[in-house]
Amino acid sequence: MARKKGKKGSGSKDDRNDWHRFNKFKEENEKLRKEVSKLRKLVDSVLVDRLQKKQDRVDNNESAIEPVCERCGNTDLVSIPISRPDGKFEIITCKSCNHRSPLKKIKEPKPE
Ligand SMILES: [Zn+2]
Repeated sequence: MARKKGKKGSGSKDDRNDWHRFNKFKEENEKLRKEVSKLRKLVDSVLVDRLQKKQDRVDNNESAIEPVCERCGNTDLVSIPISRPDGKFEIITCKSCNHRSPLKKIKEPKPE
């Protein structure tokens, strides 16, 4: 008999429990999928809102607000510098959803 994750007891009820768990998992999965699509819509609307605010500031000639993640709209971004023989680049990653921006070239300051 194979051991199941070190759980003791049940024995022959294992199969039924597995089936029960599987069905429960399927239910949960369905719920989560609905939840995710709800959240997606929410995130979309928040993102649109942020972009709108950003555009408003640009229209009013105000200084640009901090950059936001283009996927989730979060402002918690991290810049990862990358040095290559052909120049310096950076990738902006989002701490919230781990989105990565495309590689961007950084203009090097002239040596003094
Ligand atoms: Zn993000």
